[in-house]
Amino acid sequence: MQVLDQEAVDSKQRLSSLLREARGERELELQIERLPVKGYEQVLKVTEKGSKLTAIIAIHDTTLGPALGGVRIQPYASFHDALEDALRLSKGMTYKAAVSEVGFGGGKSVILADPKTEKTPELLLAFGAAVDTLKGSYICAEDVGCTPQDCELFRRKTKYVVGLSHAKSSGDPGPFTSFGVFRGIQSAAKKLFGADSLEGVKVAVQGLGSVGSNLINYLFWAGADLTLSDTDLVKAERLAGRYGAKTLPPEEILFAECDILAPCALGGIINDQTVPRFRCKAIAGGANNQLLRDSSALALKERGILYAPDFVINAGGLLNVAAELEEEGYVPTYPRSKISKIYDCLSAIYEIADKSSESTHAAALSLAEYRIKYGIGKRLLAPTFHHTIES
Ligand code: NAD
Repeated sequence: MQVLDQEAVDSKQRLSSLLREARGERELELQIERLPVKGYEQVLKVTEKGSKLTAIIAIHDTTLGPALGGVRIQPYASFHDALEDALRLSKGMTYKAAVSEVGFGGGKSVILADPKTEKTPELLLAFGAAVDTLKGSYICAEDVGCTPQDCELFRRKTKYVVGLSHAKSSGDPGPFTSFGVFRGIQSAAKKLFGADSLEGVKVAVQGLGSVGSNLINYLFWAGADLTLSDTDLVKAERLAGRYGAKTLPPEEILFAECDILAPCALGGIINDQTVPRFRCKAIAGGANNQLLRDSSALALKERGILYAPDFVINAGGLLNVAAELEEEGYVPTYPRSKISKIYDCLSAIYEIADKSSESTHAAALSLAEYRIKYGIGKRLLAPTFHHTIES
C-alpha cells in the first residue's frame, strides 16, 4: 500500500514538473530557514535564488486564529532592519486583531526589494509558494509596496491570500478604515464633551490619501469644522474647497489649535518633540504606529490629551478584509456593523485607562493581552477561501 502511495506521489510530481516545463516555468528552489525569536511562534527567512527573493515571514501569535497580515515590499538598509520591522509589525497585528475580535492572529511579512525596480513576477510567485508551505497558518494581503495585482500573483502559488479582485473579495479597505476612524472620533468627542455630536467640533486632518479623504467626507456630513493638510498642496486646496475647510501647511497641521487632531499620514508623529507643542484636546486618527515610543502615550496623558490607540481606531481595514473569509463570502454590511463597534471598544479602553490610571495605549494593550489569555474572540470555524490557486 505504501509503495503504491509513493508511486502515486512520484507520478503527480512528474506530471506537475512536465506541466511547468510546458508553460516555460522553472522549478523553484525555496530555502526556508527558521529563525529562533523569543515570543514569536514562527519567524522564517525565505530565499529563492532564481528570483533573487529574500523575505521574512513572522507569525507572532495564532491563539485566536490564523495569522493575518500584509506583505511589505521595501528596500531595507539591512536584513536586521527588515527583521525588526517584520517582528514589530506582526506583533502589532496580533494586538489589532485581538482588540477588534476578528478571529485572527498576528503575522506580517517583508520582502527585501525595491518595489519600483526589483518587484518581478518571479519574485512574487516565489513568495506565494513560500506562503503556501505554511498551509494557512499565515494569510497574506497587500501592504506598503504591494498592490492587489501583486496579490493576484501570490494566488498563482497559494490560496492563502486576501484582498484580491474577484467578486467575493473586499476591495479597497480605505473607506472602511475611515469609517472606523470616524466612529473613533465620535467616541473621543463623547469622552471630551459628554456627547458624540461632531457639530462644530474642530478637527484637523493630516494626510488626505485613501483614509484621510474618505474620513473628511464623513466628518463634513457630521457637521465638523475642518482644517486639512497634505504634502500635495493642490489636493489639499481642492478638498478644502469641496468641504468648506481651511488648510494649513504640512509643517503646521500637527500643532493646529483644534479639538481633535486626526493623523492619517505618517507614523512616529507623537514623540518628545511634538508632545509639548500639540494644541488639541484629543488625537484620534488612522495612521499606523503614531507613537514613536510607548512612553509618549504617558506624556500625552500627563498633558491631558486623550489618545485613541492607533491599532484600535484603524482596525476597519482589517475587519473588512477578514470578512472575505466568512463562510458566505464577503458581504459589506457584516464588516460595517463590526467597524461601528470601534466606538464602544475605544469607550471601554478610556474607562479602563481612567480606572487604572494608565495611558489609553497601555489600557488597549492590556485589553488585547487579556483577550488572548482567555481566548476571547477565538475563531471557531476555519476561514473559508472563495478562490483556489489560479495558475
Ligand atoms: P495614502 O498613501 O493613500 O495617503 C497618505 C497621504 O498622506 C498622501 O496623500 C500623502 O501625500 C500625505 N502625506 C504624506 N506625508 C504628509 C505630511 N507630512 N503631511 C501631510 N500629508 C502627508 O495612505 P492611506 O492608505 O490613506 O494610509 C494613511 C495612514 O493610515 C498610513 O499610516 C497607513 O499605514 C494607515 N492605515 C491605512 C489603512 C488603509 O485601509 N488604507 C488601514 C490602516 C492603517
